[in-house]
Amino acid sequence: MKMVSTLYARRLLTVSPLLILLFSCVSLASAQTEEYEFNDSHFHLTNNIQEGPSIRDFLNMMGNTVGRSTVFGVPLQQEWLYGVDGDRAPTYYLHSDAPLYYYSFTDAWIAMAYKSLPKEQRARLDPMITGFNPADMYAADHIRRVLQTFPGVFTGIGEFTIHKEFVSAKIPGTVASLQDPAVDRILDFAAEAGLVVILHNDIDLPFAKEGSDPAYLHQVKALFKRHPNPTIIWAHMGLGRTVRPPANHAAMIEEILRDPAFRNIYVDISWDEVAKYFVASPKATKSLADLMQRYPDRFLFGTDGAAPADQSKYLKVFQQYEPLWKSLDPETSRKVRLQNYERIFDEARRKVRNWESTHVVSAGSN
Ligand SMILES: [Zn+2]
Repeated sequence: MKMVSTLYARRLLTVSPLLILLFSCVSLASAQTEEYEFNDSHFHLTNNIQEGPSIRDFLNMMGNTVGRSTVFGVPLQQEWLYGVDGDRAPTYYLHSDAPLYYYSFTDAWIAMAYKSLPKEQRARLDPMITGFNPADMYAADHIRRVLQTFPGVFTGIGEFTIHKEFVSAKIPGTVASLQDPAVDRILDFAAEAGLVVILHNDIDLPFAKEGSDPAYLHQVKALFKRHPNPTIIWAHMGLGRTVRPPANHAAMIEEILRDPAFRNIYVDISWDEVAKYFVASPKATKSLADLMQRYPDRFLFGTDGAAPADQSKYLKVFQQYEPLWKSLDPETSRKVRLQNYERIFDEARRKVRNWESTHVVSAGSN
């Protein structure tokens, strides 16, 4: 039996290498869709002190459950200040009063990890550039430099953060702002290079007063309006640990999704702290499910895993959303879990490789 198949394979090889190529392409494409539970649009391989599982361990966690995943670090390093924390080394931004700082080496770390993988494993991952300060007019130049240093690697930028509870206030220097031209430069460059953008920006302040106007909704919409070209994923639909969904949150999101001026805007439902709102009651789940079914192409699922220790921790958020998966029609569910990722990230890959082919001298050597 083995001999027969070897013979057959040999004949195929001599008769038509093209056919084999075609076969493998087709099987790769179908592997992207039906066999897996989800693709992960929001994943941090490392934590606030740049530690995490190896990229090979992560691929094992994806296993047969997760088809493809984004992979990025965390741009903000938690300082260990001996005077503040002594021997208690903080590993998370909520573990210390010491500040955070931008750690650009994360992009090189992610790129080298990705490049250490064989081709078929790389095909499952979409690395993202995060190691820049969005208040710096030079941030866009960092992104360009990363593409030029590591052509053939990155699909997008982010998750990067403008306003985030507890985090923004811990970064010394200028506070990042949605109204800062530095952010406009970043998004202009993302559009030029075809990079998909994952933006974290809280819709409101923590513990906002019930019924008050969300602090950053108007600014974030103005930013989106200024940038109709880059594909932007608004992470967590603007929510956070203490940034609760404002009254009419679903209507606020819908207003964006139905406006043709915002056709390049997508939202993700990543993070266990966000999932908790939508599985808190059947009413909350239904409201999100109904919205998804009205705009099935505009939602992505991501875990927001950050340096998970093992597969069961990594898959927790997906399981947490079980009531949501049960509430969606099969087609919407497939789009949110799998197909929207493939469409958006495949298109970005194609565009970025194309930009690199004309802007990077050594492109193609990879
Ligand atoms: Zn986030």
